[in-house]
Amino acid sequence: MQYADTIEAARAMFAALPRPFGFIPTMGALHEGHLQLVRAARERCASAGVSIFVNPLQFGPQEDFAAYPRDIERDRTALSAAGANALFAPPASSMYPQGFSTTVDPGPIGTTFEGAVRPGHFRGVATVVTKLLHIAAPDVLFLGQKDAQQAVVLRRTIADLAIPVEVVVIPTVREADGLAMSSRNAYLDAAQRAVAPSLHRALEAMRDELLAGGSKTRARAAAESVLATSGAPEYFDAVDASTFEPVERLDRDALIVGAARFGATRLIDNVPVWVRGSR
Ligand code: AMP
Repeated sequence: MQYADTIEAARAMFAALPRPFGFIPTMGALHEGHLQLVRAARERCASAGVSIFVNPLQFGPQEDFAAYPRDIERDRTALSAAGANALFAPPASSMYPQGFSTTVDPGPIGTTFEGAVRPGHFRGVATVVTKLLHIAAPDVLFLGQKDAQQAVVLRRTIADLAIPVEVVVIPTVREADGLAMSSRNAYLDAAQRAVAPSLHRALEAMRDELLAGGSKTRARAAAESVLATSGAPEYFDAVDASTFEPVERLDRDALIVGAARFGATRLIDNVPVWVRGSR
């Protein structure tokens, strides 16, 4: 696997990859969810390139930027084993040098749900991914369904700014007990880890209540009754899968989305409800 840590070297490295080239932006602390994206890129493209960059612009001032897990050597080994061809891991000073000032604001779509709880988060995401796409110039961008709103926001940014890249979203990879894999799961202590899968079960309960014709109020109550009592719910909702606008009934491709805190750790998850035959 080739490696670059400057923008100039990364441009040359990615430009020499066999086409079509699939790109996977990550923040490192890689797990099976990230590696599935690499495998999907290898299956659908002639090569796979990855970035590892813990992007300070997408963290709020009180968030976990400093504590975010980092293990570049372990990540390099895992990426090589998964078949990645190239890795770009720049320092923050190359992505945001002195005087950096331009940002990409995705607008209202980035201000609800995760964007409401984390003001400026999606501006940080859209800015870094736009910059990474300009550096890597891939044919296909691979994203995870785990971060459903991020995928919707980035599809919008890519369409609005006419960035010539196809977007492929890969299903959420879960632990055996249903917990969505996340680098932040490492923050959970044993007791929190034991109850964290209740977030996924709560979303399934909300989905089942809505599919049975129940109101959103009833469906939310069903979700909150399944969430472990030690978990603090932040939001539970049903949204249109392509716009992230709230929906009352599951009559189109939709996502049941939720966020909850387990101690100091915030986890998000979602359950897609694809209208039969549409995906
Ligand atoms: P992150 O390192 O958290 O920025 O994630 C990098 C990419 O991996 C994003 O497209 C995520 O949606 C995706 N990803 C993270 N966790 C999972 C998972 N459990 N299953 C599938 N994709 C994931």
